[in-house]
Amino acid sequence: MSAALARSGANPSSGWLCIAGLGPGDESQVTPAASQALAEATDVLGYIPYVARVAARPGLRLHPSDNREELDRARHALSLAAQGHRVVVVSSGDPGVFAMAAAVFEAMEGRPDWQALDVRVLPGITAMLAASAKAGAPLGHDFCVVNLSDNLKPAALIEARVRAAAGADFALAFYNPRSTSRPETFGRILATLLEVCEPERLIIFARAVSTSNEQILTVALVDAIPEMADMRTVVIVGNSATRRVGRFVYSPRSVLPVPAP
Ligand code: SAH
Repeated sequence: MSAALARSGANPSSGWLCIAGLGPGDESQVTPAASQALAEATDVLGYIPYVARVAARPGLRLHPSDNREELDRARHALSLAAQGHRVVVVSSGDPGVFAMAAAVFEAMEGRPDWQALDVRVLPGITAMLAASAKAGAPLGHDFCVVNLSDNLKPAALIEARVRAAAGADFALAFYNPRSTSRPETFGRILATLLEVCEPERLIIFARAVSTSNEQILTVALVDAIPEMADMRTVVIVGNSATRRVGRFVYSPRSVLPVPAP
């Protein structure tokens, strides 16, 4: 054991790695399991704004990094755990939804030593569920989830998936809907939806859910414009039966025809 490890109390056989979700933003939506892991951790790694949500304390090293460095971050976390550190990799929302859990498993490929480590994924409240709860129950029937970022897949595949899901009358949730590096993509997605869905279809723009900047906007598809979304927005498109009740939006549980009286 190195002197630094000995000082930190780290022991190679007792290291572990948790990949934890911090929920959409509000502290009350961090699970007790994630809080417990953070309380026991020696090291926390993650994208800069997510690590900023973790309170500093003696004995805890914070390792913030940029958001294009997921695989390097995963390798760093695994190597720290292999040296005996108690490591938490933080994601927003749920770590298995367009986040760090898949990156950690990818980094483990071809590394039996890392595969043998004590690794756990701690679920969190993902953005679409927090947004859905604020709006009512727009995901009350079958739905599909699509990441609109074309960093890791071709734009044509995104459009084909959206067209197929909308054509099968799924409700849809879109993550990463619009970024400054690809401002035109979301406009194309809205145009595709209008080809498949009726113009009155409800679409919800839920921005910064559970934070002090939260905004929830529900409009008809025909009135939606790309500027209603940014990278802090999750977008939910209803199915053909999704409707308003009072100030809420919900998708009925049943799509069976109503029996004649
Ligand atoms: N693992 C995260 C998703 C990471 S991808 C989760 O499970 O929620 C980042 C995208 O998540 C953002 O572009 C946005 O679409 C969505 N998102 C994350 N937090 C959000 C919030 N508080 N409100 C609305 N959307 C959010």
